[in-house]
Amino acid sequence: MSVVETKKDVVIIGAGHNGLVAACYLAKAGRSVTICESADHVGGAAVSAEVFPGVAARLSKYSYLVSLLPESVRADLGMELTTVKRSVSSFTPDPLDPTRSLSIPHDNEGELRRRIASFTGNETDAQQWIDFYSRTQRVAEKVFLTLTQPLMSREDMRELVGNDQDWNDFFERPIGEVIENSITNDVLRGIILTDALIGNFADALGEDLRANICFLYHVIGNGTGDWDVPVGGMGQVTGQLEAIARSLGVHIELSTPVISVEPHENSVRVTTGSETHSVQYSAQYLLVNAAPAALAGLLGEPNPQISLADGGAQIKVNMLLSRLPRLLGGDSLEAFNGTFHINEGYEQLQRAFANATAGEMPDPLPAEIYCHSLTDPSILSPELQAQGVQTLTLFALHTPHELFVREMNPYTREDAKVAVLKTLNSVLAEPIEDCLYRDEHGNICMEVNTTVDIENSLGIATGNIFHTPLGWPWASSPAEVGSWGVETGHPRVFLCGSGAARGGGVSGIPGHNAAMALISASE
Ligand SMILES: Cc1cc2nc3c(=O)[nH]c(=O)nc-3n(C[C@H](O)[C@H](O)[C@H](O)COP(=O)(O)OP(=O)(O)OC[C@H]3O[C@@H](n4cnc5c(N)ncnc54)[C@H](O)[C@@H]3O)c2cc1C
Repeated sequence: MSVVETKKDVVIIGAGHNGLVAACYLAKAGRSVTICESADHVGGAAVSAEVFPGVAARLSKYSYLVSLLPESVRADLGMELTTVKRSVSSFTPDPLDPTRSLSIPHDNEGELRRRIASFTGNETDAQQWIDFYSRTQRVAEKVFLTLTQPLMSREDMRELVGNDQDWNDFFERPIGEVIENSITNDVLRGIILTDALIGNFADALGEDLRANICFLYHVIGNGTGDWDVPVGGMGQVTGQLEAIARSLGVHIELSTPVISVEPHENSVRVTTGSETHSVQYSAQYLLVNAAPAALAGLLGEPNPQISLADGGAQIKVNMLLSRLPRLLGGDSLEAFNGTFHINEGYEQLQRAFANATAGEMPDPLPAEIYCHSLTDPSILSPELQAQGVQTLTLFALHTPHELFVREMNPYTREDAKVAVLKTLNSVLAEPIEDCLYRDEHGNICMEVNTTVDIENSLGIATGNIFHTPLGWPWASSPAEVGSWGVETGHPRVFLCGSGAARGGGVSGIPGHNAAMALISASE
């Protein structure tokens, strides 16, 4: 085996968007930075890809909407990312009668009141909705800015939130209870609850408050909780960051997996490559964009056991359509413009949780779909645009990893596909199969990713889209107050990815925070 040893200032394991954000901040602060990325491209879960070979559509293969990336990070790094608001916030067929539907507009209170009243038959429902979201907005404005500051204590966060009722409802009582007490209508309750369940196998009424934590991250982004479309697809986010990093002198080594990490008192030894050819770096500091479980493996520690609740819990499907399908109720162009909720009524979500807990694939499967190309056709070639082709992304809830990996009768990707088609067709006036685009060989353009596929393609144990369960955005112990939430047991090794405190989502926040922690540790 050939081994070359090179001294480095900072090595980063992984060129996901967080690794790139950390690299940019550190390079701007004058550090020399090398990123080792195992894949042959940057981006991790924030990439655009030609998912269907030979079909010129660059889909956001995994993540697709941006909310949590702070304006301050964009400005600090000089990102020129264009994100677009969707005119329709959400579209939901009535689970009891899918010929009726509720379309919620973005930022138009008069229209919102009219549509909710006409859907539920009751004017107080719109007021409940408006009151509920004015409260999350109040919390968002306070909490979001703290995510890029050192961790504060829980007591200080409570004081900052500054409203006992908000604190009790969003931080201390199960979110399901709060939704049930604040909102009467089942469809409205369900739309709200989905934000607590994205990639999170949690009980809405659970005292563990896991659903509350996920909900919080989904409603605080940039103080508004809006989820916007990155023009050009998610690859634009990481493409921009890669270009900025390279212009700042960051070295990015692609196809370079790190295979072991040895922390020492004054340096960290990082070994990359294969058993036959290897490069060793002796780094002053190491940042880890890979998941904490992956870091444990690199340190030679035993594999942590990941419980059912801590694992991934979603099915992600990418599709190309030759045309938008007709709906049982409502206008397709409007419906596909926003987040289209399928079988996500509150009672349905609760039943789906019970089904999956009992080891069954939920039926009906709760899922949400979205057509990126309606807001941003630039991800399609001019030829596909001229043919009227559209993209469709589907994200299904309450499908925990355990269903796909258990010893007895595990569900397969084909089972997931069947469940996805069934739920989708339950709101359509024609089978989705008739609208799926076919490539030149006649294959339908539909890609189904279970948690097993996410685990295999992104190297994230159990396919958890956030690397680890999300945590509250404050210090978990008095000793942690004032830290950045990226520290590990090794003073020269920091997490800089989704698995750090306040990680999760396309946010760049742990990347920023790891850079700040490293700078202050080395001063
Ligand atoms: C299907 C799906 C849908 C999602 N939808 C959204 C969404 O719409 N909006 C949103 O905000 N978030 C979404 N998320 C979550 C979001 O994408 C992630 O939380 C985020 O991208 C994580 O970024 P990261 O940089 O921390 O890690 P990652 O993107 O996971 O990057 C880690 C990088 O480290 C590399 N790596 C790992 N191990 C090694 C090693 N040993 N050596 C070298 N390199 C290594 C990997 O190859 C990878 O490039 C979604 C995630 C998934 C999977």
